[in-house]
Formats: sequence, structure tokens, C-alpha cells
Amino acid sequence: NDMPYLTLSDGSRIPQLGCGVWELNGQEAYKSVTESIKLGYRLIDTAQYYRNESETYQAVLDSGIPREEFYITTKLNPSNGSSEKNIRDSLDRSLKNLGGKIDLVLIHWPFSNDEMAWRIMEEYVQEGKFKSIGLSNYSPEALRRILKIAKIKPVLNQVELHPYNSKYPTVAEYEKEGVKVEAWSPLGAGRQGLLRDPVIADIAKAHGKSSAQVILRWDLQRGIITIPRSKNPAHIKENISIMDFQLNDEEMKQIDALNRDDALWDI
Ligand code: NAD
Repeated sequence: NDMPYLTLSDGSRIPQLGCGVWELNGQEAYKSVTESIKLGYRLIDTAQYYRNESETYQAVLDSGIPREEFYITTKLNPSNGSSEKNIRDSLDRSLKNLGGKIDLVLIHWPFSNDEMAWRIMEEYVQEGKFKSIGLSNYSPEALRRILKIAKIKPVLNQVELHPYNSKYPTVAEYEKEGVKVEAWSPLGAGRQGLLRDPVIADIAKAHGKSSAQVILRWDLQRGIITIPRSKNPAHIKENISIMDFQLNDEEMKQIDALNRDDALWDI
């Protein structure tokens, strides 16, 4: 298997490419994850908010592949964060849905009780229930607020990132704090015409690849973890078939130049 892995600040290793299951209902998530696993994906990105944790985990169980080979991420939904009890109950529910141990739990986005949530998540790490903990949708300022109270540093921050919103200065700020960056909506969530961009299409043509493959390759070469979503087996296969080519510096720069800070969600 030629999947690249990155080492996180707590020493654990994460596959650099995975599959996301946002907006897939239980049955769709089960099918998409089953197909993804067959093709070699081992990182799976779910969330309490997506309501498909148990179906996602069922696909992992039914694959017959040892659990240790997988890297499962879920996210604490801030709407479950109104009290210490609610936070614990929701984390316990996720643990139950995902087989009693989770590789990575993120706070889905900043909220008023997130420092309390962070301390509770640290306990779950100390108890061996979570391997790693991290954040999602945190600006550099919000990240530093958590770092101030953290005994365990967030291993990564999952943020919106694609060639129209490439976040170069912000990524550097996260990385300076030892926090890796994971890209959500790496393909622009199918909007904005990103997959029809002529610059990307030309690069794709030169390599005999698709635009989606070029974008995901750009993520890998930037040292970013990326989690495209698809229900379509041909796309699922396409998205992982990116280990056999390399973008040169010129091509990387051409893609970098497409940035227009076009974020769906300002953080
Ligand atoms: P994405 O950028 O992965 O794009 C998905 C869209 O692209 C779908 O419409 C899909 O059909 C299409 N697609 C996928 N592969 C393709 C290919 N090879 N060719 C052509 N079209 C293709 O969008 P996303 O789902 O928003 O983001 C990926 C994952 O990131 C989500 O599933 C979720 O796990 C995560 N996410 C997290 C947050 C957060 O707040 N933390 C927010 C959004 C998404």
C-alpha cells in the first residue's frame, strides 16, 4: 500500500487521504465507506452532526479488516455542548456507536463551552478512550485560546481548504503551533466550478489525470490531510489513485495562484 502517513504531535500516525461522509444518510454512508475500504481508504471522517456514526462503523466491522488498520475521526457537535453532562453523554454515545475506542475526536466548531469540552476530551484520552483530540473550524486566534488551557495539544485543525480558498498564511500559523491541517470540502463540495477550472484542467490533461485528482495531489504535496466525499464508486477510486504522479513546482504555483479566499464559511 502506497498511502502516505503523517505523524501528529502526540506521536500517532494518520493516513494523509481519507473519505468524508457528510450529507450521506446511514445507508449511503455504509455503502460509500464499504466501497472506500475495498479500494484502500483507512481514514474515515464522520461526526455526531452527520448522524451516520454507527453505519460508518458497521462498514468497518463488516470489512473483516483489523480495527487497528483504521483511523476513525468523529466530531463533538456544539449543540451537544450546553453542559458538562451533555458533553459527556454525547461523547459516550459516539464511543458506543464507534466500537468503544476512537482514533480522533474533534470539536466541530468553536462554541461558548469549548474549553470545558476540551478538558473533558483530555480526560477521555487519559482514560484510553480517544487516541488523539483536535479541532475543526478554529481560526488562529481561537486555536491559541485552546492552546492556552490545553494539557494535550490539538493534533490537527480541520478547515475548509481547496484551490479557491488555499489559506496559505493561516496554514503556516497552525503549523507553527505544531497543529496539522486537514482539508474539508477539498473539491469545493462540488460548487464554484472548481472542478471545471481551466488551469487545473490543463494540468490534469498533461498528467492524464482528472481535475479532482490534481487537487487532491496538491493537498498531499502541501502536507495537508484530505478527505473527499463521494457516493460514486468511480469517483471513490479516482480520488485514491493519486500516488503515481507528482505535480512539479510550476504546477503547484499555478494552482496556488487560483486562490480567491472564496470560503463557504468564514472562521
Ligand atoms: P468535497 O469537496 O469532498 O466534494 C464532494 C462533492 O464532489 C460531491 O458532490 C461529490 O459527488 C463530488 N466528487 C467527489 N469526487 C469527485 C470526483 N473525483 N470527480 C467529480 N466529482 C467528485 O465536499 P465535502 O463533502 O463538503 O467535504 C468532504 C468531507 O469533509 C465531508 O464529507 C466531511 O467529512 C468533511 N467536512 C467537514 C466540515 C467541518 O465543518 N468540519 C464541513 C464540511 C465537510
